[in-house]
Amino acid sequence: MEEKIIKFEDMQLSKKVLNAVRDMGFEEPSPIQAQTIPLALEGHDVIGQAQTGTGKTAAFGIPTIEQIDEKNKYIQALVLTPTRELAIQIAEEFNKIGKYKRVKTLPVYGGQMIDRQIRALRFGVKVVVGTPGRLIDHIRRNTIKLDHVKMLILDEADEMLDMGFIEDIEEIMSNVAQGENRQTLLFSATMPAPIEKLARSYMHNPQKVMISREQLTVPSVDQLYFETRDKFEGLCRVLDIEDSGKYIIFCRTKKNVDDLQASLQVRGYMAGSLHGDMSQAQRDRVMRRFREGKLEILIATDVAARGIDIDDISHVI
Ligand code: AMP
Repeated sequence: MEEKIIKFEDMQLSKKVLNAVRDMGFEEPSPIQAQTIPLALEGHDVIGQAQTGTGKTAAFGIPTIEQIDEKNKYIQALVLTPTRELAIQIAEEFNKIGKYKRVKTLPVYGGQMIDRQIRALRFGVKVVVGTPGRLIDHIRRNTIKLDHVKMLILDEADEMLDMGFIEDIEEIMSNVAQGENRQTLLFSATMPAPIEKLARSYMHNPQKVMISREQLTVPSVDQLYFETRDKFEGLCRVLDIEDSGKYIIFCRTKKNVDDLQASLQVRGYMAGSLHGDMSQAQRDRVMRRFREGKLEILIATDVAARGIDIDDISHVI
């Protein structure tokens, strides 16, 4: 089914935020943005199941910056994130989105001199992105005021759980103004029970948004190359490294495809081939056997393989 593409222009965004997003080179919203931004702008709590690479930072960053009141001098939004690198990265993206609105975002993380952060906090920022440990530190020192926070964002919630931050998160959440007016957005790649529980106890009627791996803006595929004197021997060694997998091997010509299939079969590999000289019935049969795992290797010319849709391919050669 064709998905309806919503444009950034169709969302209830101010000129300042729209122009900033355009400056960032985002032409159209990624799926998680198309789903999350309108819900968040309507004031809903949102649970987003999505990984890094889907554009989730802007999915929560755009509605957060949009809803900041420039005239209010207090911290109005707080983002919790597991690592210092992520805190810095998110703050950078928020500062880009808030460029024309002049909304300042400060990253607050362990490892940086706390005095510098205290000065920056005193200077007045409207959004803080922090790691849980350092935020607790500021709360206990009374160097951060969270009583005007109306948006709370938990990013990579499952990572924070794995790192043992769950109690810190609960302590921070209890310091943020409660009640109907607070909006909470929670993002996590997985939803383990303690995260579900956290969501149930702190969120109001959360709307769920699920984004699958295939919708990444930046696919996480490791790319490697090997220099080899003998391509066929090299290929067999690569195939032998892992004892299971689903491989697609592309060749330039139909003859290459047939030759490689014959050579691999002699060595005992379960290989099938796909190219333009085959009848539709033959192709369907090969594809079915590959899908069902009866063939571990599909050798194809790129034209023949165009548009094929197979789950859990482990290697493309
Ligand atoms: P994230 O999942 O937030 O880490 O984003 C992954 C990358 O995609 C980042 O480099 C973003 O700048 C980029 N990105 C996010 N949204 C869009 C979009 N709508 N169009 C193009 N690139 C985007």
